Amino acid sequence: KNLPFPATFVIYNINNYVGFATLPNQVHRKSVKKGFAFTLMVAGESGLGKSTLVNSLYLTDLYNNRKVLNAEERIVQTVFITKHTVGIEEKGVRLRLSIVDTPGFGDAVNNTESWKEIEDYIDQQFEQYFRDESGLNRKNIQDNRVHCCLYFISPFGHGLRPLDVECMRALHDKVNIVPVLAKADSLTPTEVRRKKMKIREEMEKFGINIYQFPDCEFDEDEEFKQQEQLLKDSIPFAVIGSNIQVESKGRKFRGRLYPWGVVEVEDPAHSDFLLLRNMLVKTHMQDLKDVTRETHYENYRAQCIQNMTRMVVQERKRRLVLHTHTHTHT
Ligand code: GDP
Repeated sequence: KNLPFPATFVIYNINNYVGFATLPNQVHRKSVKKGFAFTLMVAGESGLGKSTLVNSLYLTDLYNNRKVLNAEERIVQTVFITKHTVGIEEKGVRLRLSIVDTPGFGDAVNNTESWKEIEDYIDQQFEQYFRDESGLNRKNIQDNRVHCCLYFISPFGHGLRPLDVECMRALHDKVNIVPVLAKADSLTPTEVRRKKMKIREEMEKFGINIYQFPDCEFDEDEEFKQQEQLLKDSIPFAVIGSNIQVESKGRKFRGRLYPWGVVEVEDPAHSDFLLLRNMLVKTHMQDLKDVTRETHYENYRAQCIQNMTRMVVQERKRRLVLHTHTHTHT
């Protein structure tokens, strides 16, 4: 009879089951064993609640020994990039989380190109990875590339400031930018809606390419599609951060206590905090890493190789000229 496979294959395949269906499990086990690494950068004007939000996002106090600089120090030290790394474990899954903080951004009197250091930092991580990848020990490369940059936008201005525009445009080809509207508790729901719309329009107008959520497949279920649409419509995420727990009506939660009431960080009616955390941690962490590797790093790598080739060609030309010169002289 006309069997679709060679006979030997069919003989071994007694139960119609060879076993490669376990491949996802094998991959899963292997990656769990290796652990995961994720690097998140926070950028934007100082005092917008960057460190508070990071602490709220990962339920850890990453900044317990942070020193807040005074105004004079801040002016001198325009951009001072620091990195905190913590190991978090949840249900046996290990995550090495790194937060790259860019405090003081926008503090200096002269802000021209104050994002340059952030840009350089991102490039340096790519460069390091490129070196490691071309080196001898490629097995244990530590991936320090920046996978996502939360860009904080002030709730007090009218949309984006020129500095925001310049900064995001300088970074958008190198890192996944996720814009957030800081300290959303200082705005009414209508103001939040208007501000979001204005910011989205301005980002479009100035050609800022932020991180794009991947398009849904046709066969995805309705709930998933709705969630994705909600994410897209919520940009920039209006966020609230808090380092303290408050107690109200017999419940304890991370929140902010005001004379007129309490704000609950994780309440979807108060902010997009939960949406952002789910996106970063639960649903899109891998996609952020994939886009970093496939688009941003790939661009950097291509550029590097192009430059190297150009240098080789120039060097060859130079030698050729030198060679002909010496020959004509003798
Ligand atoms: P960073 O300089 O951007 O890291 O800002 P910090 O996290 O140090 O916060 C600066 C100040 O803003 C602190 O007094 C915080 O308590 C306050 N703050 C942080 N997050 C929020 C928020 O969501 N809403 C409000 N109203 N204040 C906040």
